[in-house]
Amino acid sequence: MTLSGQCKLCSQTTTLVDSHFIPASIYKVCRDHTSNQNAIAVTRGFAKISTHEITDNVFCLECEKRLNENGESWVHLNIARPNEFLLQENLQRATPAVSNDVFVAYEGRSVPGIDVAQLGYFALSVFWRGAAHEWPLDHKGEKTERLSFGAEGAIRPKSEDKVTVQVQACH
Ligand SMILES: [Zn+2]
Repeated sequence: MTLSGQCKLCSQTTTLVDSHFIPASIYKVCRDHTSNQNAIAVTRGFAKISTHEITDNVFCLECEKRLNENGESWVHLNIARPNEFLLQENLQRATPAVSNDVFVAYEGRSVPGIDVAQLGYFALSVFWRGAAHEWPLDHKGEKTERLSFGAEGAIRPKSEDKVTVQVQACH
């Protein structure tokens, strides 16, 4: 469904498309249609298995493309799947910057196959989406605290900001 309004990313008043809080392509990866397994949604107070995708008319089509080209597509290709986890495989081939028995850290820029700009943009864009709009949840009554971040279509960390990405393998 489309709706006219002000795009939360570029601030233009235009047609807003049905936007996802978490990209639709990632929701699909989190599901196993053969076994009917779905993602676990964790919110304040409880966790549940859910097929619900959080969407609303938030961004214009151009900004949807911007978000897709800046992080979403790269993350979609590199996140964990039942038989493949490219992000983890690239890290396992690299030399850690720091490691001990329970912790391994890499400098992302030095790891072949890791696009730090794409990964960082995606991570920040998800945080920003949560702050920029009150997304409708399938359970009512939950309040969220909004943050102020970005303007005119820019999602850029300040030069002193750092984004830490944790890659976790489940065995
Ligand atoms: Zn826009």
